[in-house]
Amino acid sequence: MLNEKKCPACGKWTDGSKSRCAFCDSLIDPTLIAAENRKKRDEETRKKELAEENRFERYLRKLQYSDKWYHKLFFGILNVFFNIYMAILSFFIWLITIVSG
Ligand SMILES: [Zn+2]
Repeated sequence: MLNEKKCPACGKWTDGSKSRCAFCDSLIDPTLIAAENRKKRDEETRKKELAEENRFERYLRKLQYSDKWYHKLFFGILNVFFNIYMAILSFFIWLITIVSG
């Protein structure tokens, strides 16, 4: 007897030994479908993160090259805080390295 599986995409019965439906070329293996969905979700998240990052960078650049004094001030303050943050971060990394020996 042929090992048949019902395609989740088109609902037709197709050869279960293959990973894709013979009618609509969709994946029929649930684990493969899950993996595919996860990959797609990861890609979307990465794209969203990238877009977010670009927006933030654009905003920073706008502040940096703006003629308005308060934009420059804000950018300066942001820069100082970022440097302090990095200093604290590197201090903790140093501390952890020392403590763990
Ligand atoms: Zn199908």
